[in-house]
Amino acid sequence: MVRLAILGSTGSIGTQALDVVSRHRDEFSVTALAARSNGELLNRQVKDFQVKYAVLTRPKDGFVPESGAEWGFSDEAMSDLCALPDVDAVLVSVVGIAGLPLVLAAIEHGKKVLLANKEALVTGGKLVMDAAKRKNVSLLPVDSEHSAIFQCIQGNPNKNPCGIVLTASGGPFRTFTKEQIKNATVEQALRHPNWSMGSKITIDSASMVNKALEVIEAKWLFSMEPKDIQVVVHPESIVHSGVKFHDGATLVQMGLPDMRVPIAYAMSYPERLPEVSAPLDLTKFGTLHFEQPDFEKFPALGLVYPVLKTGGNAPVLFNGANEEAVSAVLQKRLPFYAIADVLSETLERVPVQEISCIEQVYEADRLARAVAKAIISDKY
Ligand code: NDP
Ligand code: MG
Repeated sequence: MVRLAILGSTGSIGTQALDVVSRHRDEFSVTALAARSNGELLNRQVKDFQVKYAVLTRPKDGFVPESGAEWGFSDEAMSDLCALPDVDAVLVSVVGIAGLPLVLAAIEHGKKVLLANKEALVTGGKLVMDAAKRKNVSLLPVDSEHSAIFQCIQGNPNKNPCGIVLTASGGPFRTFTKEQIKNATVEQALRHPNWSMGSKITIDSASMVNKALEVIEAKWLFSMEPKDIQVVVHPESIVHSGVKFHDGATLVQMGLPDMRVPIAYAMSYPERLPEVSAPLDLTKFGTLHFEQPDFEKFPALGLVYPVLKTGGNAPVLFNGANEEAVSAVLQKRLPFYAIADVLSETLERVPVQEISCIEQVYEADRLARAVAKAIISDKY
């Protein structure tokens, strides 16, 4: 029996993880759940899964917590869930850099980390990987591409691929012209062709910043040089990513686009759970397509390679500016197409600095957000 804490339980990943639990009650129990404001759903989850500990970090006025659980109402209380002795694995499925302290807390307490939140590795990659190594803690990827890569390297004794094929659907604007993207609305950006996800990652997919974040995530998880990570646009989202070996072989993992597969694999690793998703019938597709990403139309994706080359605080600035830009796009304070401009201008304005401790990460994040905010309010 694996005893879980799910941080971000009311979101797209959190609810799908609970769906996996509900079909495999003999293998998993849920000790703790946390969310930000959706108290109604969190209350229902607490009841359905007989959860002992619950945290709502920003409760709405008048929220009445479900009885039977011990409740907390702060970021600190959410982080403290990582220390519970009756938790074996922590699924970190909150959005943004808010995931970083949670991942570090879970590692510090020796818990297995099921990693959906990619921003933790984008901003704190080296610190997180060093801590996991020091504590001998497993980081199991939930992001579908990284799960695919992880699945492909199983069974290779020294697990040393020489390259990664990172697939991308291309999002809702793949076939748009540059001019059409310039006029794209937030509603259009929120209409992802293949995946139903939270709003932040859906906007990131439309701008292809999501793939940039995933290049950084892959670099850390699989100790890979950025030049060996090839982004390939694959509109059907059937090939979820893969690895290249020195002998010329490429292995990929395929399946219908269903996040429950990577979630369940991280939860049950190294076993596979039965009947998680519908089986794939390749004859129904007939043809799968693969193309080069268009860096002209999606300039934010192209920024990732110089950002990684610069290193230091640059990935933190990239992420912080993006979090601000996405939130402004969702609130219609910034046109969708301007995300890339906000990112490149923030990177130009903030001096490069080395990062050697967590405080420097949060400082770089604060600076990036302040600069991005100023750019957004001055220029748009
Ligand atoms: P959602 O917006 O759907 O859900 C986010 C969850 O986290 C909600 O439960 C939300 O609570 C909670 N939350 C958000 N911010 C905070 C905070 N500061 N403190 C406490 N709780 C918080 O996001 P997704 O599930 O789509 O994504 C979660 C993470 O997983 C992201 O990092 C994303 O990039 C990654 N990911 C998601 C995929 C997907 O298919 N959705 C695929 C691959 C990766 P509330 O509901 O109360 O606001
Ligand atoms: Mg992904």
